[in-house]
Amino acid sequence: MAALKTLQQLARQHGTPLFVVDHDVLRRNYATFRKYLPRVQAYYAVKANPDAAIVKTLYDAGASFDVASMPEFMIVHDCIKNLPIKQRQDWIWDKIIYANPIKANETLQELDPYKALVTYDNSEEIRKIRKYAPHSGLVLRLKVANTGAMVELSSKFGAASGEAVDLILEADKAGLVVEGLSFHVGSQTTNFENFVQAINLAADVYKEANDRGYTKMNLLDIGGGFPAPYDATVKPFRELARKINAELDRLFPKNIQILAEPGRFMVATAGTAVSKIIGKAVRDGKLCYYVDDGVYHTFSGIVFDHCHYHMNAFKKGPAQICTVFGPTCDALDVISMAEELPSDLERGDLLYSVNIGAYSVASSTPFNGFPPARVVHINR
Ligand SMILES: *Cc1c(COP(=O)(O)O)cnc(C)c1O
Repeated sequence: MAALKTLQQLARQHGTPLFVVDHDVLRRNYATFRKYLPRVQAYYAVKANPDAAIVKTLYDAGASFDVASMPEFMIVHDCIKNLPIKQRQDWIWDKIIYANPIKANETLQELDPYKALVTYDNSEEIRKIRKYAPHSGLVLRLKVANTGAMVELSSKFGAASGEAVDLILEADKAGLVVEGLSFHVGSQTTNFENFVQAINLAADVYKEANDRGYTKMNLLDIGGGFPAPYDATVKPFRELARKINAELDRLFPKNIQILAEPGRFMVATAGTAVSKIIGKAVRDGKLCYYVDDGVYHTFSGIVFDHCHYHMNAFKKGPAQICTVFGPTCDALDVISMAEELPSDLERGDLLYSVNIGAYSVASSTPFNGFPPARVVHINR
């Protein structure tokens, strides 16, 4: 994250609420991912934070991209729009996966000329892709255990392992090419066994497909879910990487291309929110601070992402347990009921929250007329 002095300076210069992105941290996270998982190409999941400058920095670092809508696709496409058409098509084929298993007909139509990889997980989608995006490469999304993930995804997407090979053969019969398999173990997965189990399940499906005569698969997409180090209970990334590497090397030959779709891991630690105290009250004996950012805005992850963020003061002083409220009139707009903050903070004082780069500004709304935080980039 950015230095405290810098955050205060930026807040003075731009006002609050403020969302500060440190691009050195983005580059470092990308490098860490590549260092510990050398076999795995990182497709940044744009959903986590679709800011064009973030996408550009990761593009420059060599990242590939996971998109789930045409607007997300176009944000990435902007990075390559000046390349000649052929180079652009090759880049899209190599470096974009459209990883939303359910796509509208219109979306498939728009996507088709770009010839991208798309995920699917049922027969209905095969019929749609055949009709509207027959030039796509297919990746079958498998349903895998999401035990212990902060955000569960397995109830919405994924083919059961028992039907997986039937769905591959069905797509093949429809004249489509299934390039490989994908899964998602759940977001912020601190239970590393989820990855081990999922890779083993994918290896079983791979083998069954080969045994039943389908030999065109050449990629495995191990999805997202790589945990951000929100607190000390999250075990180091290199421990997870060691487990993943061991399973990949044991179960998949060298010529299989391995990809992953890290979202949170790349951006969470790169974002810091700075807000200002706009009111102060004592309610039921408890000190309450009201700030100019809240759960409808940068702190939306409290609701949508099941994430908790700590508020920190720049000023030091005798602390007590306080409530921190957002600025809207909705009682849901509570950042925290139990933050240890100095009791003598005043109107105008600033607070900050670290590790808030993922699933935060991305789901901010203009609810109740309060504008979203201004985004400032530190990119030396
Ligand atoms: C949201 C999502 C991701 C990113 O997940 P993280 O937990 O942020 O790494 C990757 N792939 C798919 C298909 C997703 O839906």
